[in-house]
Amino acid sequence: MNFKYCPECGEKLFPKSCGDEGEIPYCGKCGRPFFPFSYPCVICLCVAEDDSEIALIKQSYVSDNYVNVAGYVKQGEIPEDTAVREVMEEIGLETVSCKYLKSYYYAKRDNLMLGYVCKVKKGELKLSSEVDSAEWFPLKNAARLLRQGSVAQNLLNDYLAVILQ
Ligand SMILES: [Zn+2]
Repeated sequence: MNFKYCPECGEKLFPKSCGDEGEIPYCGKCGRPFFPFSYPCVICLCVAEDDSEIALIKQSYVSDNYVNVAGYVKQGEIPEDTAVREVMEEIGLETVSCKYLKSYYYAKRDNLMLGYVCKVKKGELKLSSEVDSAEWFPLKNAARLLRQGSVAQNLLNDYLAVILQ
């Protein structure tokens, strides 16, 4: 996100030198810079406690392929809470442990994607209206179900590299 106008007062911003950062869009009225940023999101591997299986979802508005539970970090929320909240909202499962693994940048939507591994209690999948379907798959061969080179697939492969080493 690049700011041209002040998101607080609507004034046109002008570039102002800001130390080591170089020129940053600045609002003369509010007296502050507005740094460009990428939206923080979480992407969650929903894994059974024993690492045997992973729950993947389908969301027609996102992709034809299976994807992971994901969502935007709300203002004032910490990403660990976002991850637990999204897993509950999208597939109705309780997260037992939530660990950060790695971050990814998704240029198409200017998203900074924080990858979490959410160990969940395997129970009935209760889907939100945003989710078309969800299913459990054996963890070790689930990568082929995800779009080649996608953040979802990279996150899964990065997790497999950790647990299989
Ligand atoms: Zn302003």
